[in-house]
Amino acid sequence: MSRNNKTRQNCPHCNSEQELNYYQSVNVTLNPELKSKVLSGKLNDSICTNCHKEINIVSGFFYHDMSQKIMLELALADDDTVDHKEEDAKNQLRDKLIEQGYIYRKLKQYPRLTEKITILDQKLNDLVIEQVTHRMKSILDESIKEVGSIEGNFDFKVFFKKIESSLFKKKIVFHCFSHPSQIMEMKYDFKNLTSDEKNKLYNQDILRK
Ligand SMILES: [Zn+2]
Repeated sequence: MSRNNKTRQNCPHCNSEQELNYYQSVNVTLNPELKSKVLSGKLNDSICTNCHKEINIVSGFFYHDMSQKIMLELALADDDTVDHKEEDAKNQLRDKLIEQGYIYRKLKQYPRLTEKITILDQKLNDLVIEQVTHRMKSILDESIKEVGSIEGNFDFKVFFKKIESSLFKKKIVFHCFSHPSQIMEMKYDFKNLTSDEKNKLYNQDILRK
């Protein structure tokens, strides 16, 4: 079951007090209509009853896919009011699900949550993708250092997009950027994967207990 909650907040645009709904957990097996909202980042969007502008509540939640046995927890980094009781309850839930053969992941940023859903939906081993993502990031960070004339602080973000297959070649496609307005598409050839990575890439069973 998906669970939502209500909160009273002032609209950031016109300051009128609003009662807003937000989700604490989303079950995409029982409520498949919510999945596209999660993926588009519009899960907790409301329209202000006064000025009719969009209000987006940024809040952590659980993403639960019962059919694929996947549980993702979005725990936003600035949620530093850690409630220990709540934390214990979450850990118990996590252990129970892992015991049942679930893949359980905790993400600290919304874009990493949607990336994880994309990876797992394509039946890929997300840990292999993570390794290649880190490698891709080092390649980019190194290459920018070599271009000595460029000033500034580049911290590349690398996100998995898809697997591209042609007749003889397979590539992992990433979107990379140091600023979201300049997204580069980068491709990582399968032939550069280690044999261990090649073996595990399409194996999700080894991620489960
Ligand atoms: Zn308003």
